[in-house]
Amino acid sequence: MATPKYAEAKREIVESKQVATLTDGTKVKERAPRMRACNEKDEKGKLCAGHLKRWYFFGDEVKKQYGEQAEIYRCEKCKTLYLPNPDEAPRTGTLAW
Ligand SMILES: [Zn+2]
Repeated sequence: MATPKYAEAKREIVESKQVATLTDGTKVKERAPRMRACNEKDEKGKLCAGHLKRWYFFGDEVKKQYGEQAEIYRCEKCKTLYLPNPDEAPRTGTLAW
């Protein structure tokens, strides 16, 4: 009898956590520090690895939750939205209020 082997991944990876799901099913996650690629996995466990790009075309739902000027990134492949990591210091000098 063949015994199925389950390779349990127990490595310490800094995971970006999912913080919300929009009404259209879009996932909203928080980026891990210095994260540049999407870490979503499909049903087969394949990593998406799409590039996260600054995204400005979010709808009212995102605006209501994160503000009109929210810093939002979106995976160019699976369209998952990413928020900046709160532990990551914003680059100084780029914002002048
Ligand atoms: Zn993705």
